[in-house]
Amino acid sequence: MSTTTEQFAGSRYVAGEWSSAGGATVDVFDPTDGSVLARVNEGTEADVKAALSAARAAQRDWARTPAPERGAHIRAIADLIRAEREPLAKLLSREVGKPLSEALGEVDFAEAYLRYNAEWDRRLEGEILPGDVRGETIHLLRVPVGVIAAICPWNFPLAVLCRKIGPALVTGNTVVVKPSEVSPLSTIELVRLIDERLDVPKGVINVVAGAKVTGRALVDSPLTSLISFTGHRDTGKGIMAAASKHLTRVSLELGGKAPAIVWRDADLDVTIPAIVQARHANAGQVCTSAERVFVHRDIVGEFTERYVAAVSQLTVGAPSAAGTDMGPLASAAQLEKVRGAVETARGEGAEVLLDGSAADASFGPGYWVSPTVVAGVRRDMRIMVDETFGPVTPIMAIDSLDEALDVANDSRYGLSAYLFSRDYPTVMRTVDELDFGEIYINRTLGESVHAHHTGYKESGMGGEDGKWGMLRYTQIKTAYHHHG
Ligand code: NAD
Repeated sequence: MSTTTEQFAGSRYVAGEWSSAGGATVDVFDPTDGSVLARVNEGTEADVKAALSAARAAQRDWARTPAPERGAHIRAIADLIRAEREPLAKLLSREVGKPLSEALGEVDFAEAYLRYNAEWDRRLEGEILPGDVRGETIHLLRVPVGVIAAICPWNFPLAVLCRKIGPALVTGNTVVVKPSEVSPLSTIELVRLIDERLDVPKGVINVVAGAKVTGRALVDSPLTSLISFTGHRDTGKGIMAAASKHLTRVSLELGGKAPAIVWRDADLDVTIPAIVQARHANAGQVCTSAERVFVHRDIVGEFTERYVAAVSQLTVGAPSAAGTDMGPLASAAQLEKVRGAVETARGEGAEVLLDGSAADASFGPGYWVSPTVVAGVRRDMRIMVDETFGPVTPIMAIDSLDEALDVANDSRYGLSAYLFSRDYPTVMRTVDELDFGEIYINRTLGESVHAHHTGYKESGMGGEDGKWGMLRYTQIKTAYHHHG
């Protein structure tokens, strides 16, 4: 398939019109060989202003549209995604480099976010309170926040997009979407399909492609009511600082450094496949990836041997090929980062048991690495501190649950954590004491659309999914009805 910008009719979709944004362009690369897959325009400040103005102009009427009608529009988008499942997944696989099977899973997840959030259309509630004085009733109304700037990362472009637009639209907000410059194509394609096939009112969904310039313009504008950002911790910090200018609300879903604690009674037949998956899905580029593995000393030898054997069996190859477990990394920057992390670990004295970080000539010029396993690590090594975001597993022995909890919590991140144990008190204590927003017990990664996904500490603030995630797109308005 040849993919060009022309195919997408433009990089800017404002008030129902496509255009090429003009100005600078950003290349989108094919991760399998580093060639240019497409070129999109970098939205300028003026483009962003036009998009936000269009969203604001459309918002009041969208909020007045009965919620079940808004829900029907969201269901129509979900139906469209279902109908276009394979082409969307192929595009996603192409731009991110993820295996087609994983891309299909992401498309399904995107659809599920929309269907789940559409269900709130008849469930949005307020409260009625008795007043303090005679003849008075107080209404607490849930009203939309206004215009949402949905700033998305490259690793799950469609799922994160729908995770944001589902709750935003059902609650009566309008959106301006900024896809990542690394993988904007599936977002542009989905919106192109929505424009072509559905009758979502103009201005309700707008898109401005681009990179930092576009993102900054969205963050800096007083027209933005809520910045719903998913991405790197440092970008999130910058956004929060910039948002203080207009006291714009922020919802920040940032990175992680998930610990996986393997207690001595863990069932390794369950544990090893679960951690292999939690470290290698999307080539390790998941915010919830198992980034640090802590194994009880009694079983660390057996665990390590079996883990190395299991990851050595993974098939690294073309994302489009059946049977591929892992494709390339998504970008040249990712390749450099992952290779650098392994080199630094080696330099700090870690033992690299399996090294897939060096380019394998047989893969050609893309962003390829293979599974890598590192032992002999200490808690203060960079590999145990910084988000690696690649298929590198550091394994560290622990002697007690106190130690496991201490090293696991010794992180500036606090998104996801894993525990493998069959011992009830161990499980209960660990859930109680882990300082993480999301804990997976005896299972691999993968959140549910109706649960709650949130990072503690420097993994963010806000929280997405489920009822609480949906309510973040609303604010409370109080009306005192004095009726005498
Ligand atoms: P990133 O922060 O580099 O980019 C994210 C988005 O922000 C992109 O669209 C980018 O163009 C935009 N951006 C960059 N600079 C900006 C600025 N100054 N102002 C406004 N927007 C700006 O992150 P990434 O590399 O695309 O994504 C990977 C990171 O995202 C990882 O750390 C990962 O853990 C995290 N992530 C978190 C979750 C979660 O739910 N917590 C989910 C997916 C990814």
